[in-house]
Amino acid sequence: MKFRCVCGEIIVDNTDSLSYKAYFIADQDWEDAFRPEEGTSDEPEDRLLGWSRSAWQCQACGSLYIDDDNGLVHRFQPASADTPRNILASIHGERWKRPLRGSWRSDRTKSPPGQLWWGAGDDSGFEEFDEWAALERRYYTVFERLLGKGALRDAFLRHEDRYLHRWPSPPPGSA
Ligand SMILES: [Zn+2]
Repeated sequence: MKFRCVCGEIIVDNTDSLSYKAYFIADQDWEDAFRPEEGTSDEPEDRLLGWSRSAWQCQACGSLYIDDDNGLVHRFQPASADTPRNILASIHGERWKRPLRGSWRSDRTKSPPGQLWWGAGDDSGFEEFDEWAALERRYYTVFERLLGKGALRDAFLRHEDRYLHRWPSPPPGSA
């Protein structure tokens, strides 16, 4: 989904691990979410998923958008213009472990064949490449840098349908 903030910015929600989105659970439900009711077979994960609602922060103007119980989105405007834009980001800040993906597909028609992305937050990126060697070089540069600062979750570099590099390495015998 995506929607337009009153400031004109488009807030896009079409991928995981957004740095400007969070889930919240009502304080009235908080303890019940971890402590199952007697006689029910719900798992805590089901309650967390079913009882949480979403909030997004506009990265341009700082406005906060919050889902109500009926899925309607309400806007709250910050009192000052310099309100931080990362109030919904990970508690781990820049140490949040992010994924890195490098992919080369010669059958891409609307964009260059090479793509590299990692995210999200301050240290995130999306780059496109016309040359395989350039993508490969750039992938290993970003890989080493994220690994070095302890901010890498997992990574792969794929050429067409073949994985040329994966981290962590898959166990022997798996695809
Ligand atoms: Zn805005």
